[in-house]
Amino acid sequence: MSSGSRCAVVTGASRGIGRGIALALAAQGWDIVINYRSQSAPAQELAQQIEAMGRKTLLVQADVSRFDEAKALIDQAAAAFGGIGVLVNNAGITRDGLLARMSEEDYDQVLDVNLKSAFNCIRHATPIMMKQRAGRIINITSVVGITGNAGQANYAASKAGVIGLTKSAARELARRGITVNAVAPGYIATDMTQAMPEAAREKVMETIPLGRAGTAEDVAGAVCFLAGPAASYITGVVLRVDGGMAI
Ligand code: NAP
Repeated sequence: MSSGSRCAVVTGASRGIGRGIALALAAQGWDIVINYRSQSAPAQELAQQIEAMGRKTLLVQADVSRFDEAKALIDQAAAAFGGIGVLVNNAGITRDGLLARMSEEDYDQVLDVNLKSAFNCIRHATPIMMKQRAGRIINITSVVGITGNAGQANYAASKAGVIGLTKSAARELARRGITVNAVAPGYIATDMTQAMPEAAREKVMETIPLGRAGTAEDVAGAVCFLAGPAASYITGVVLRVDGGMAI
């Protein structure tokens, strides 16, 4: 665990992978800032669950793709907990479609939520972590950002961008005691993948050497490792959690 604040900010924590990360970090002793965009009921239910584990929580509604809302999230987190130890940039969306038919809006929205939001939160958290001379930033990318995927040009571009952002930030912030890493999930059972057509899901399953879909807990385990003491000498890596999908 990095020194300083015990506060971990998780964006898009109301559901899916973000929810799993929030629970796992709480189990590791972190107080959790739960960010969500629209659904307050699952976020409140998660906060109750984490508080029952003896950790503190702060719920912050914010669209992190908006620079000012991301600033409000980070400022509120730092004010409530006296700093930020861990920032997990998890919020993400898909707007799949073939390039020949992809609208400008679907391209822009995916880039804004998946890539710009990570920049926004890093931009606002960095001065706080620099002052602490400690911090862990963990960005959730995707194997699709490494391999590309037909029908997901916008999503793959955003996730490849997250990898470039991660490596640049890692180089820039290393001397300040801040590590920056990425976790690249493969196919994880959440609302996002449930939205795929059945035939597409079956096809993806065939590409996973370990033969099963991943869980939010599988991804959360990697995030906890990168946030914890065993990862203090690791920065700028992309850790695949994909059952071997992108070998
Ligand atoms: P999900 O079940 O659809 O959940 C997405 C979460 O992000 C929700 O909590 C949602 O909040 C939040 N969110 C969306 N836009 C936001 C915004 N502008 N500001 C703040 N929060 C926002 O997705 P998931 O499957 O857990 O995915 C989580 C991350 O893992 C994403 O970055 C995704 O790209 C990545 N990933 C997922 C998979 C997979 O197989 N599932 C694979 C690789 C990578 P609301 O409900 O309030 O809108």
